[in-house]
Amino acid sequence: MRNLQDLRKDLRIFAKYHLRHPVEAYPAREEELGLVELPFDLDAYVAELAAFEGERFAVRREAELSYDGRLHPMITLRSRAPARATLLVIAGIHGNERASLLAVPEILQRFEPARGVRLVMIAPANPIGAQQLSRYNAHGYDINRDFKRFETEEARAIRAVYERERPDFVISLHEGPHDATFMFTNHYVPRTVVNRTLAALAAAGTKLATRDYFGLPLSPPGLSAWTRLTRAVHTLWAVAPGLMPTIQYSSVRAIPEIVLESSWREADGQTRIRPHVELVDAVSRALASRS
Ligand SMILES: [Zn+2]
Repeated sequence: MRNLQDLRKDLRIFAKYHLRHPVEAYPAREEELGLVELPFDLDAYVAELAAFEGERFAVRREAELSYDGRLHPMITLRSRAPARATLLVIAGIHGNERASLLAVPEILQRFEPARGVRLVMIAPANPIGAQQLSRYNAHGYDINRDFKRFETEEARAIRAVYERERPDFVISLHEGPHDATFMFTNHYVPRTVVNRTLAALAAAGTKLATRDYFGLPLSPPGLSAWTRLTRAVHTLWAVAPGLMPTIQYSSVRAIPEIVLESSWREADGQTRIRPHVELVDAVSRALASRS
């Protein structure tokens, strides 16, 4: 039997991660819930992404966020080859979920323009949070709850990318406290894409979760579909406190979106990066075969 103290703690954590907006004094290091920190340096990271400028990719500074006396760039990379479909990948909208950022160079290397899919990547989507190991931006906002009011510069910059690039499919890369990988999808994601993606993750050795972070069983493993509970949570976010994540924003625009949630409890960086690389590759293959 759970005691009242446990319940209070659960409610506090739920409110912190899903409802309060903004939190008080941030950015602050976010090491709760078993997060194993992966090393990250914003300057080195931006230089690494800038080096992709060339025949395959165009690189630009989408926004520059000011904090602590310096500018923190948000980068977009766009593949140059002509294509029939555009895949937008948002990496690191929660700054402490660093595997999603560290996966980006490998995603870009693996990308095959001959498939006829255009890749647009935003990284880091929360550059101050990335540098500070913070889920939130400099003003304590969870950017991934700000796609209704657009109070943050980061969410407005990401919205501008949606409007300019007109994606046919969106992937948002995350990590979390669960001990295995799963994904959320909105109801625009075709079932065939879901199945192929889960198969690709499993084949590459990713452990797929059998429960989501609400403790609900996942069937098939690795998929948290658009259930009545998730719909209720999203409705609560959107209606009561005016909070909206990217997946809901994509839904409003009738764009399929997959949100990947891998485990931040894993200490090995490569193991953490792999699901992000495999997911983008699998969706890009699926889009290529459809278009
Ligand atoms: Zn996240």
